[in-house]
Amino acid sequence: MKKQVSQKLLDLVEKDKEHSCAGYGPDHVCVRAAGVADLPTEFGHFNIVAFWNNRDEKDHIAIVHGEVVGLENVPVRLHSECLTGDALGSLRCDCRDQLKVSLQRIAEEPLGIVLYLRQEGRGIGLLNKIRAYQLQDGGLDTVEANLALGFRDDERDFAVAAHMLHSLGIKSVRLMTNNPKKVDELRQYQINVVERLPHIIPPNEHNRFYLETKSRRSGHWIDFEGHPHLPEQADGVQVAGMASTDAE
Ligand SMILES: [Zn+2]
Ligand SMILES: [Zn+2]
Repeated sequence: MKKQVSQKLLDLVEKDKEHSCAGYGPDHVCVRAAGVADLPTEFGHFNIVAFWNNRDEKDHIAIVHGEVVGLENVPVRLHSECLTGDALGSLRCDCRDQLKVSLQRIAEEPLGIVLYLRQEGRGIGLLNKIRAYQLQDGGLDTVEANLALGFRDDERDFAVAAHMLHSLGIKSVRLMTNNPKKVDELRQYQINVVERLPHIIPPNEHNRFYLETKSRRSGHWIDFEGHPHLPEQADGVQVAGMASTDAE
């Protein structure tokens, strides 16, 4: 069966073999598109682009719907990796629902991108996230636990995301976010954010579980012993008719 892979993305991977630049952000991170493949999913049909970077072994991913290379006004969602939520369905956070809704939403647009950023646990890594959970189980909240482990509350940086968008030739983005701070962070890296698309989803059969979970667990970010939790994504989705759970 013929796989649907964008020729422009294949060309980008070829061209990026030679790419080198001064890098973005305080760590001078530089990325190269290093592979692209067809990716049919239960949410829609995508191409997946893997990016190599010059700083660590983390392989960041762009999940691309439609032909986006070189275009303006491209809908973009940034998702920070959460293994426990995304893959295991952990209910300590709602990352999996957010990712699902993002992919569904982008798949409904003519084109768009979900950047899947490997900054697990607000940037502190999986092992430290589990250690922070352990401290939370013992009574600390998320912020206290991160500080106790010697981290700032949020170690994330969006330099990689900005470079990935520039690599993809995206001229301007419509950022799918409920968090205006995210817009500012990308603009710092010369990403032209022309519009903020509120991440509001109409209730339907696909997010019924999300709604049910939210309503069953009212006080979503309070655990059973009453400790507050910060959401792991920088901004949450809003479902029409439901109260916001944004970290704003
Ligand atoms: Zn570079
Ligand atoms: Zn999570």
